[in-house]
Amino acid sequence: MFMKDIFLRVDELESHLGNVHADFGDLKLKIKELLEENQQLRIENQQLRKVLKRETESAIAQVQEAAEEPAAVKGDIPSAAMGVGEGYDNLARLYHEGFHICNVYYGHLRMEGDCLFCLSFLSK
Ligand SMILES: [Zn+2]
Repeated sequence: MFMKDIFLRVDELESHLGNVHADFGDLKLKIKELLEENQQLRIENQQLRKVLKRETESAIAQVQEAAEEPAAVKGDIPSAAMGVGEGYDNLARLYHEGFHICNVYYGHLRMEGDCLFCLSFLSK
């Protein structure tokens, strides 16, 4: 009788451990989803900040233009060229933070180390 109780208790524990293991699996998946969502929100936030900054600057410029004489033409070409390099830097940083930047898995966490699609994209 006593031995049977021990066996039942161990059996119970085993199934309990199984449930805990399954819960961990679910939690891990949830964390992965949250990390991906967080990264996407960060990117969106960054882009919105850029738009806001640009809009604010252009609004200030319009006010200043209205107040002053027409200013000399400013060099817009270097800033456009800088935009491309900046985009590349953002993608490279995103990749090094552990996210895919390839069009196959874009924005997803890199769970298996380097991604050949991403690397070929970065080397372009
Ligand atoms: Zn990738």
